Parts: sequence; C-alpha cells; structure tokens
Amino acid sequence: MNSNMDLKQHHECVQRAIALGRANDPTALPELTRLLKMPSAEIRRLAASAIGKLSGFGADPEVAVVALAPAALGDPHPQTKQYALKALKAYGAAASPHLDDLRDAAANPEEKEYVRLAAASAVKTIEEAVRIQEGSAQHGCQRCGRIVAQDEYARAQKMFQRTLCDNCFDETYIKRRNFDTRVEVSKTIPTTDGKLVQSGGEKAITEWLAAHGIAYRYDDRLRILEGRQVRPDFYLPELDVYIEYWGMDTLDYQIGMLIKKQMYQHAGKRLISLYPKDLSCLDTLLKQKLALLARPESAAAVPTPHAEEKL
Ligand SMILES: [Zn+2]
Repeated sequence: MNSNMDLKQHHECVQRAIALGRANDPTALPELTRLLKMPSAEIRRLAASAIGKLSGFGADPEVAVVALAPAALGDPHPQTKQYALKALKAYGAAASPHLDDLRDAAANPEEKEYVRLAAASAVKTIEEAVRIQEGSAQHGCQRCGRIVAQDEYARAQKMFQRTLCDNCFDETYIKRRNFDTRVEVSKTIPTTDGKLVQSGGEKAITEWLAAHGIAYRYDDRLRILEGRQVRPDFYLPELDVYIEYWGMDTLDYQIGMLIKKQMYQHAGKRLISLYPKDLSCLDTLLKQKLALLARPESAAAVPTPHAEEKL
C-alpha cells in the first residue's frame, strides 16, 4: 500500500474494485472512475483493469477513454499505467485521439519495458480499429465468420487476443467464467505458504518451489500458445519454465494432456511434466529437470515469452 489512507478504507476500496471488476455492470463506470483517482496504486490498477473489462459489457466508450487516458499516459505507477493501457486498447477507435501520445509512450526509453509493450499493443489494436471503422480493413469472427465492427474487434483482442463478434465474445466469456469458477471451487487443499490448490500433487510442488525460493505463479493467468488459451498449473517467471502436474488418468484427460503438451512444444516453451508416480522422488526429480533446463544450450534454443495478458 502506498498511500495515506487507513488500512480499513484501503481494504474496502480494494474489495470494491475487485467486486466491480467481476460484476460486468457498465453503470459502475462513474464509481470506477473515482477509484482510478485514489492515492493507492493498487486500487488504481484494479479500477483500470475493471474499466477495461466493462468494454465487453456496454460501458460508454467515450466516458471510459476520458477516465483511462490520464492513467494510461501519466500514472506515476508503471503497473497502473500498464493496466490502464490494456484497458484503453479495449475501447478501440474511441481511444484514437490518444494515438500520438501512445506512440510516444511505446518509444519512450524511460518507460518500463512492459509499459512500452502495452503501449505498442494498444497502438496496434486502436489503429486497426480505426481502419475497420474507416472501411479500409475487415476482420471476420474467428468462431462464426461474421464481419466484426471496430468495437467488437478491439474488445475481443483485448480480452481474448482473438477476433470475435459480440455473440461469440459472450459465449466465450461465459464458458471461461464457468471454467474458472469450477477450478476455484475445486481448490480446497491449503499449502504451507498459504495458497489453496487442487490436489496433493500440486500441494507438494507448490511447497517444494516455496522451500527452494523459486518464484512461481500458480494457475493464475491464461497464456496464449498456438492461438489457443492455456492455463498452466505453474509458471516460473525467473526461469521461464512451465510445470504441469498431470494428476488424472481418464481417457479424456489423457487426450487433453497430449494436446496441451503439443501446444507447449510447438510454441517452443520449456515444460516440466510431473505425474503422481513422481511425487515420492519430487525433490531429486525437480532438481534434475530444472538443472537440465538451465543449461545454456537448451536455454538458447528457446524464445523468450510473449507479453502477458492479465485478465
Ligand atoms: Zn462470431
């Protein structure tokens, strides 16, 4: 927390921003605009992210852009900038008055790299949205083929990194939310470092990583591999390594596992696969596998990860 607000008020605003980010209610825009001006960077970041999500749910693009642009271009906190830039992109052509400033941000060596990348990505999507609006570009929905409008293009690019019409956007959104809810409900096993995971295997891996001081993200964001969304069990950002724990052996699960493994392979990602039989020798195995991946010749063959899209 980096503000003078008292803890309780800060906590309430954080919870409120998170709740509004999940509510998909465009009438929340004025309240989120107020939260976007709070002294706490954490609250501003959550508010920016929530305003971005509202682009898919009927928020007034002009009002949203007026709220987001100052944060995207001038917030003192780089992460808030990054989230506001991503949110701004979702409003497509409505954000076009800020294109020059966005281009400057993308080229500004004083900005953090992730801010420059977010600005460059916003420029690309907003420019394309303008071309669609002017009739000089056309995109078909990747699910149903219908030609999309510029606002549909921008919000689907922001949310799913795909081109989707509004119908397919809604269906994809609901499917994903149901999936996310199912996953969250099945996370019931507490780990020693205070997380909730889905299985004993994931618990053992989590605790091993924590005990060895290896930074990890557990099941927290979708990544795009081969144009499809993948939700890795673990991602180790400092090593750029993914870990999947393949805990089940039904036929459907096995098929899904093969497809997912292929996607990692085709995308040139470093994946460590672990199975229930590995748990008894997890310590030796993980040490071996991580040492192997850390060898310079294997590291050199692997491209760096693409920019992340936090949802
Ligand atoms: Zn469609």
